[in-house]
Amino acid sequence: RKKPVSSATSQSDGKGSISAEQIHELRAYLSKIDVGQADSPDEVKINQALVVSGGEGTSYMGEWIVNSGATHHMTGNPKLFHDYKLSSGKERVSLVDGSFTSVAGKGSLSLLNNFLVHDALHVPHLPLSLLSVSKITKELKCELIFSEKRCVLQDLVTRKKIGINLVSDGLYRLPIRVVTALMSAVSRTEKKEEECRQLFLFWHERLGHLPFGILKHLFPELCSNLNISMLSCDVCQFAKHVRASYPISNSRSNKAFSLVHSDVWGPSGIHSRGGFQYFITFIDDYSRCTFVYLLKDRSEVPHIIETFILLVENQYGNSVKTFRSDNAREYMCLIVEELFRKRGIVHETSCSYTPPQNGVAERKNRQLLNVTRAILFQRNLPKYYWGDAILTSVYLINRMPSRVLKGRTPYSMLPESSQHFHLPPRVFGCVCFIHNHSPNVKKLDPKSIKGIFLGYSSTQKGYKCLDPTTGRLHITKDVTFLD
Ligand SMILES: [Zn+2]
Repeated sequence: RKKPVSSATSQSDGKGSISAEQIHELRAYLSKIDVGQADSPDEVKINQALVVSGGEGTSYMGEWIVNSGATHHMTGNPKLFHDYKLSSGKERVSLVDGSFTSVAGKGSLSLLNNFLVHDALHVPHLPLSLLSVSKITKELKCELIFSEKRCVLQDLVTRKKIGINLVSDGLYRLPIRVVTALMSAVSRTEKKEEECRQLFLFWHERLGHLPFGILKHLFPELCSNLNISMLSCDVCQFAKHVRASYPISNSRSNKAFSLVHSDVWGPSGIHSRGGFQYFITFIDDYSRCTFVYLLKDRSEVPHIIETFILLVENQYGNSVKTFRSDNAREYMCLIVEELFRKRGIVHETSCSYTPPQNGVAERKNRQLLNVTRAILFQRNLPKYYWGDAILTSVYLINRMPSRVLKGRTPYSMLPESSQHFHLPPRVFGCVCFIHNHSPNVKKLDPKSIKGIFLGYSSTQKGYKCLDPTTGRLHITKDVTFLD
């Protein structure tokens, strides 16, 4: 079997993957064309592109390839456009083999959620999405710094680095924006197979037992000499971690928070640390970003719904228009009804829509619980910590690429999202040493406290570490992990 280059598409069926020969062709083509070639003065506009034939559709991870040869940004996926105009029919794109294909339309699309690029072309059947170097440097006022292993987009004014790419097989790929913390974590030195295998499984744990296919996409360097199909994870087996086997619904709303799905889970049977028995989820239909609140009692639901609506308004400048839930009592009470009525929110319950539509909330709950089970198992943590595990799961899931979002992360779809990880991720439940700076520490006292890592603080830049002997939770960055 030919070695596929587009790692994201090579999971099983190889659809949309590119062969080694085609890559060779691509490279040869790239070396021939000039950077920033102007449009042809001919009546029929011809746009340069490097295009590989074969496989249909774009890769499902929605990756972009930075291409110095393309005169325009172009993609085969019309769904990426914010505004879209049909083409006059006169514009064409020249392909590697000398033939031409027509441009179906053009418009603006957003890159990494923050940067709008204009005049991007929709070229049906283009197997990859291409970013034109000459266009992007002009439009985003940035420079692209290419080196052997990576390519960085740096803002010319602020000097802020606005995108970091891994290079694989000689093509610069613009990956889903998963921060530097992840990228730099895998050092760029040559590694032996066993070492790669261990690191791969290690990151699988740290990232909440992220499916291998997605992990492979995040760490292509690590996987170049690994046979992923030979790897397995016992914890995933025990946790019955379903690897995205459910069908994907492609219909999403087009604005953040205009439709919110919600569900309440519990009672848990086992009280968690803090005495919680339930949790409530809110899922933004557009970004699939999930918000979880732990509850001691169902009666807290109306108050938490209000808290969430205020969060959306104040932090994201949006308002909830439609709220979807099942018919559970806690959603059907007068207080909730009154809250929605005052704010003009439509409440859709199982009565007013067909049940499979609440699938979004139910699927998300299943995914959350799967990851939660897995991260509790991985270091044999008692179920008493399920509350911390749920919060950690949702933190990780919101920051990991999603198939429904074509490889983008839920968090990156939100208007105010900044950095993905303030801190490098660690294995949930691992032993850690919290450095003790208390002035009461005497010279001969131990300088650190042994603790358990219980996730990431939502309010401060710090790890949540529990001292089991005192039951005290420390939020700190000053900690050494034994993960
Ligand atoms: Zn696993």
